[in-house]
Amino acid sequence: MEQQIKALQIEATEKFAAANSLEQLNDFKVQYLGKKGSLTSILRGMGNLSAEERPRMGQLVNDVRKVLEDLFETVSAKLSQQELENRLSSEKIDITLPGRVNKIGHIHPINLTMRRIKDVFLKMGFSIYEGPEVESDYYNFEALNLPKDHPARDMQDSFYITPEFLLRTHTSPMQARTMEVNSKENKPIRMIAPGKVYRRDYDATHSPMFHQVEGLVVGEDISLADLKGTLELFLKEIFSEDVKVRLRPSFFPFTEPSAEVDISCVICKGAGCRVCKSSGWLEILGSGMVHPRVLEMSGYDSSKVSGFAFGMGVERIAMLLYGIDDLRLFFENDLRFIRQFALRGIK
Ligand SMILES: [Zn+2]
Repeated sequence: MEQQIKALQIEATEKFAAANSLEQLNDFKVQYLGKKGSLTSILRGMGNLSAEERPRMGQLVNDVRKVLEDLFETVSAKLSQQELENRLSSEKIDITLPGRVNKIGHIHPINLTMRRIKDVFLKMGFSIYEGPEVESDYYNFEALNLPKDHPARDMQDSFYITPEFLLRTHTSPMQARTMEVNSKENKPIRMIAPGKVYRRDYDATHSPMFHQVEGLVVGEDISLADLKGTLELFLKEIFSEDVKVRLRPSFFPFTEPSAEVDISCVICKGAGCRVCKSSGWLEILGSGMVHPRVLEMSGYDSSKVSGFAFGMGVERIAMLLYGIDDLRLFFENDLRFIRQFALRGIK
């Protein structure tokens, strides 16, 4: 019997050591150490032994069982480790593969331009005000020195909602609104009002909805020189340091004197091209000293304070900045157009 046990130990040891998977190893364990395994069946045959032999054989079987169990643990640990390594190498992640790109949005060129304009004025200490797009006839026209029978009202084809309310035709109502609030305490003003405006117009350079930025400065001793200096600095910041600025006499009912502000053509540098109609100059914004009547209507004493105001079309500036020749492109929402502005960002 002793030999039988020894032979079984050798056989089992070889099998355990040769197992090449955990599954196979477990099968061997059942085969030799299980309830119906070889070692157990040897124990069952111990009834035939003499009383002296029985404890010795019992001890021997237990020793062999212990040795085989230890071996099983060792081999099992080795195989687990091996299987883990195999899995890790077969499921290896290739970190050099390109990742999944999340598509991010694009800032619309109008918003980009608007941000640039705001940035420049914020640096100069201006505040930003926003007002209603549905405006009263009073703020849109009357408070800006455009009474009901004024011929200049014909200059703007308006969308009226009721006889008294309309979609604002310019951002200038914010001048009147801001002055009305600040004049109560005779406070000075330095503000811009960006926003949407509406007129009945549609072609390559006009859209029924477009964007303006209005500006207003009110205080003691504000002069035409302040107007020129402020706008010159602004235009150089937006376009380029070498851009030339000129003021041309003009007429607006709410400013006196009034001036159109031109810059030297940013396309041809003044030599003359299609964009500047060979003049070398581009009309860029309207401006002027706030009309004393407008100051008075808004509650200021025009003998004590003065001011200047200006207004510009954001689309016009964006077209020049990005070299766009049809304003309708801004509002057709063609992604091929919008996507071009992804990386240009803000200066
Ligand atoms: Zn030109």
